[in-house]
Amino acid sequence: MLLGIKDRKTLFRRHGIMVLFSLALVGLFWLSRGQWVPEMRLWRAVGDAGFVLLAMALSIGPLARLWLPARRWVAWRRELGIWFALLALGHGVLILSGWVGWSWRRFLGYEFVPQLGRWARLEPGFGLANLLGLAGLIWALVLMATSSDWAVRKLGIASWKWLQTGAYIIFYLVALHAVYFLFIHYTVSFHRPVPDPNWFRYPMAAIGLAVIGLQGAAYAQVVRRRQAAETSSVEVQKAILIGRRQIARGTYEMTFSVKSPLHFLAGQHTQVRVLKLLYPDPQGASRVFSIASSPTDKTRFSIAWRDTGSGYKRTLLELPIKTEVLVDRPGGQFILPDDIGRPVLMVAGGIGITPIMSMVRWAAEKKLPQVMVLLYANSSRERAAYLEELQELAGTNKHFSLRNQYQPIDGKVLAGLSKPYKNPIWYVVGPPGMVDSVRLLLSEAGAGEPDIIIENFDGYDG
Ligand SMILES: Cc1cc2nc3c(=O)[nH]c(=O)nc-3n(C[C@H](O)[C@H](O)[C@H](O)COP(=O)(O)OP(=O)(O)OC[C@H]3O[C@@H](n4cnc5c(N)ncnc54)[C@H](O)[C@@H]3O)c2cc1C
Repeated sequence: MLLGIKDRKTLFRRHGIMVLFSLALVGLFWLSRGQWVPEMRLWRAVGDAGFVLLAMALSIGPLARLWLPARRWVAWRRELGIWFALLALGHGVLILSGWVGWSWRRFLGYEFVPQLGRWARLEPGFGLANLLGLAGLIWALVLMATSSDWAVRKLGIASWKWLQTGAYIIFYLVALHAVYFLFIHYTVSFHRPVPDPNWFRYPMAAIGLAVIGLQGAAYAQVVRRRQAAETSSVEVQKAILIGRRQIARGTYEMTFSVKSPLHFLAGQHTQVRVLKLLYPDPQGASRVFSIASSPTDKTRFSIAWRDTGSGYKRTLLELPIKTEVLVDRPGGQFILPDDIGRPVLMVAGGIGITPIMSMVRWAAEKKLPQVMVLLYANSSRERAAYLEELQELAGTNKHFSLRNQYQPIDGKVLAGLSKPYKNPIWYVVGPPGMVDSVRLLLSEAGAGEPDIIIENFDGYDG
C-alpha cells in the first residue's frame, strides 16, 4: 500500500490524520442535528462527512492544474478516496441495518401499510436514488481495493489510471443520490410529517457545484494552453543571438531572444537554422536542440551543444552576437508527468542534460514538490555541463538530488538509484547508443514501457 510514499511512517501518519479528520467531521454533523432521532442523525452524519472527503479528493486535481502550489496536496487524494469509501460503506451499512432492516422492498421504497394489509409504494424516485447510492458505493469499494502497489503492478499503470477515473462517476452518482434525499424526499414527502430540513443542503449543493466548476475551469485552461501553444507561437520565427558562453570542455551555451513569445514545456525541443553557414556542412544549416532554459521566460531561450567540428557547429561558434537565426515552434513529448506523486528518476548522458536542465530549473522556480533524482553520466568532470548549477539546485531544492557518474551506466547503478522509490517514472536522454542501453537495462529490471520516457539525440554520436 505504499504507492510512491517513501516510508510506512508517512503512510500511517497520513491515515492517522484522515481518521481524526473524519471523526471530527462526523462529530460536527452529529452535534448540529440534536432534533433528529439518533439513528438518522448518525447515518446522515457519516454520509455527509463522506461527501466532504469525496469533494476534497476530486478538487485537488483540477486545483493543482490551475494553481501550481496545490500540487503538494495531490498525494493526499489517495487517503481522501480511501476514507471516503470507508465512510460511504458505514453510511450504507447503517441505513441497511437500521431503517431498511435488510428488506429489499423497503430499499426500493415500499412500506407495509397495516390498514391495507400489504406493501405499498412509498414515493416515486426513492428506489432509484438508493440504487444510485449503492452503485456509487460499489465503485468506491473497487477503487479502494485497487489503491495498492500490487494492483498497479497487476493491472498496469494505464489500466489502473483508467479505473481511477471512475472517481468522477462516483461523484455524479453520489450527487444524484444526495439531491433526491436533500431536496425531494425530506421536503416534498407525500405520506409522512416532514422532519426539519437538513441545514447542510445548501452548503452541500454549493460544494458540489464548486467541484464541477473547478473541473470545468481546469479543463478550459488545458484547452486554452494547447490553443495558445498551437496558435500564438508562430511556426517559424526569427531569433537574435544575445549570448554565448563555454559551460564545459568543448561545450557551449547560446542564448537567443525572440519577438513573439516562445511557448514550450520544460523538456521540449526546437530547430535552429543559421541563415548563412560560415563553413560548408553536408548535413545542412539546421539542427534540432532541446531547450535548456526554463519555460517561464518566453522572450528568450538557451540551447547547449558539444563542438564536433561539423561546419554547422563551427558556424555557431563564430556567429557574431546579434546575428539572426530561424527557430521552429517547439514540440516533443519528453515532458514531466502530470502525476506529482510519482518520483521522477532521470538518466542524462553528456549533452543529454539540456532538457533535464529546463525541467529542474522550472521545478525550482515553481517550487514544485515533485521528487526528482538525476543520474548524470559523463566521460569526465570537465565534460559535465552545468555541473555547478546542478549541485547548487540539489542543495537548495530538497526535492531534487544529483548523482554524478564518470563510468558507463550498468544495472547495479540503476537499481541503487530506484531502490528508495515506489512506482517511479524514468526519463532517459542522450546519445542514441546510451539511451538504448539504459532502456534495455531498465526493461530487464522489470520497468514497463509506459514507465520509461526517452529522448534520443538522433544524429549525435558523442
Ligand atoms: C530531440 C533532439 C534533441 C537534441 N538536443 C540536442 C542538444 O540539446 N544539444 C546537442 O548538442 N545536440 C542535440 N541533438 C542532436 C543535434 O540535433 C545534432 O544532431 C548533434 O548536435 C550533432 O550535430 P553536429 O553538427 O555536431 O554533427 P553532424 O554534422 O550532424 O554529424 C553527426 C556526427 O558526425 C561527426 N562529425 C560531423 N562533422 C564532423 C567533422 N567535421 N569532424 C569530426 N566529426 C564530425 C560528429 O561526431 C557528429 O556527432 C538533439 C537531437 C534531437 C533529435
